[in-house]
Amino acid sequence: MSKRLSGKTIVITGASSGIGRSTAVEFARTSPDNLKLILTARRIDTLKQVAEEIKKEVGDGVKVLPIQLDVSQPDQVRNFIPSLPQEFQQIDILVNNAGLVKGVDKAGDVNEDDIRVMWDTNVHGLINMTQAALQSMRTRGESGQGDIINIGSIAGREGYPGGSIYCASKAAVRTFTDAIRRELIATRIRVMEIDPGQVETEFSVVRFGGDKSKADAVYKGVTPLTPEDIAETVVFVAGRPENVVVADMLVFPNHQA
Ligand code: NDP
Repeated sequence: MSKRLSGKTIVITGASSGIGRSTAVEFARTSPDNLKLILTARRIDTLKQVAEEIKKEVGDGVKVLPIQLDVSQPDQVRNFIPSLPQEFQQIDILVNNAGLVKGVDKAGDVNEDDIRVMWDTNVHGLINMTQAALQSMRTRGESGQGDIINIGSIAGREGYPGGSIYCASKAAVRTFTDAIRRELIATRIRVMEIDPGQVETEFSVVRFGGDKSKADAVYKGVTPLTPEDIAETVVFVAGRPENVVVADMLVFPNHQA
């Protein structure tokens, strides 16, 4: 059980499945002492199920609030924190995890809608959420206090054929994260990025248009990470003492090239 995380108010985007869902469960398991978890995604029914599972597992020590939120919609994000119950409005930790990939087409063939959805979600969505959380974090102490933890990807460090737009979006996340970490150096707001390699989630199959055999082919010779592997990493970096910032972390399954 982590004392450092006790009593924190944590927002997780994309908490309805995969890494985000596991991260919510891991925070609750590790720090069930007065934690406030705000779980966000578009699928509200799934979020409510996650909230129920957490309550069943850890009891009433954790307050869980499922909120329907599409990060790509600036109006929704703008209204998000002001419309929370008062006791949830002071955000300590934001996990910017929501993200998606659409299609695996070569750059010349990617359709305009897919480009827009990937960019609006992975880049604008993450920036929108960061601005909203910063407003809340800046009200704490003299210079502000809190943690912003961004889920990037190995795809932001190296491109792969068929993934140009997704890779570019994750590279944007990477440089945005680096820039704001430097901007906020004089404050008590930490900015961190975790870049996973292959993780088996809904994402793994969706990106091949639902074709599981194609998804499995990518994992040949590799046992992919589980969402829990990344969830444990998120909770680890959030739990470091205040003078430590894990600015940048690449987490691979062994044998991934
Ligand atoms: P999942 O598809 O399981 O989860 C993605 C989550 O993002 C879902 O909860 C989804 O919820 C949410 N989401 C998507 N679009 C939006 C939106 N517009 N607004 C709010 N929430 C949204 O995939 P992962 O868990 O694998 O992905 C999580 C993150 O990890 C992503 O950023 C992904 O790019 C990154 N990543 C994944 C890797 C992998 O191999 N799986 C490797 C490297 C990075 P809902 O549909 O309910 O809105």
